[in-house]
Amino acid sequence: MKNIQKKPIIIAVFTIIILCLLLYLKQGFSSGEKVGNGQTITKTGFALDTVVSVTVYDKKDEAAAAEAIALCSDFEDIFSRTKEGSMLWEFNNGAELPSSSELASVISSARYYSGISSGAFSITMGGVSSLYDFTGENNIPPDASLVTKALEHSGDDKIIISGDTLKLADFETKADLGAIAKGYIADRIKEYLESKGVKRGIIDLGGNILCFGGKPDGSNYNIGIQYPLKNSREYLCAISVNTASVVTSGVYERSFTYEGELYHHILNPETGLPVKNGLVSVTIVSDSSEKADALSTTCFVLGKEKGLELVNSMEDTYAAFVDENLNIYYSDGFEAQLSKAS
Ligand code: ADP
Ligand code: MG
Repeated sequence: MKNIQKKPIIIAVFTIIILCLLLYLKQGFSSGEKVGNGQTITKTGFALDTVVSVTVYDKKDEAAAAEAIALCSDFEDIFSRTKEGSMLWEFNNGAELPSSSELASVISSARYYSGISSGAFSITMGGVSSLYDFTGENNIPPDASLVTKALEHSGDDKIIISGDTLKLADFETKADLGAIAKGYIADRIKEYLESKGVKRGIIDLGGNILCFGGKPDGSNYNIGIQYPLKNSREYLCAISVNTASVVTSGVYERSFTYEGELYHHILNPETGLPVKNGLVSVTIVSDSSEKADALSTTCFVLGKEKGLELVNSMEDTYAAFVDENLNIYYSDGFEAQLSKAS
């Protein structure tokens, strides 16, 4: 009798040990772990609406890692859609934006991804996406008439460029940089760390990963690609990279189910509805984190065929598409980077 009661506890403890071991093997680092002759130091915080962490491998780089976390919060003053008074908030509320500003440069990049995808990537759908409540209690899809109305105020033509300034066409148009800002910020954080002499590290902005310099012992990082299920800590596969950004867009993080239908946060700009094309995630590998971030969303909306075509036309850019049956489709060159340990 006693043994029967203990069994679930033993299984639970065993499962936790296995999960920890898996995490350790896949990520190849953890706070305080010794690597080569040095020690990993991970600084963590909450910014950009997610958990952010920066890992460096040398004690002397600790202050730079801490400063990098602080920088993430500073970037909210530019890119947050919800923080009152942020530059994006001002822009969304009628302010003119100098085209020389950082915000304008990210908007310009976003317009590039919109252009190469015939509008599949669209940052002017803030009015539509704010109709969905993926994080709170109100997990009910919005009224179709509200979606249609909000869609009338989206589209790149709603960003008016005149002379040295940008502004939005009307007060109902809302820009949303949720699919590109984290990547841009990761690139800036890497530049900051390198300017402080940091030679190797991992920047993780809520799963938007940018690693550089390889591990101190000269080996590559193993970056796990998350199993596409809500709150999953398992990995579908892992890739081995020295310096690269790895970004995944998936249906599993911000989503809810209503009357048996999954509603997630990647929206089709033509309908305002969550994209439904059989995909559950798209992972992009690229040197630029901004590119990886924007392309992961772009390719998700484009779907497997068009997305693969786009990525295969780009140099040093790789993609893995995962469908709802967990089949993985790789772009040219992706498989060569799969970690042997995966
Ligand atoms: P995550 O925020 O998990 O990193 P993504 O990079 O895929 O995921 O970005 C999804 C976010 O981008 C959504 O929460 C929304 O703010 C915005 N978004 C949704 N659909 C699109 C789209 N078609 N084009 C550009 N941005 C989008
Ligand atoms: Mg993205």
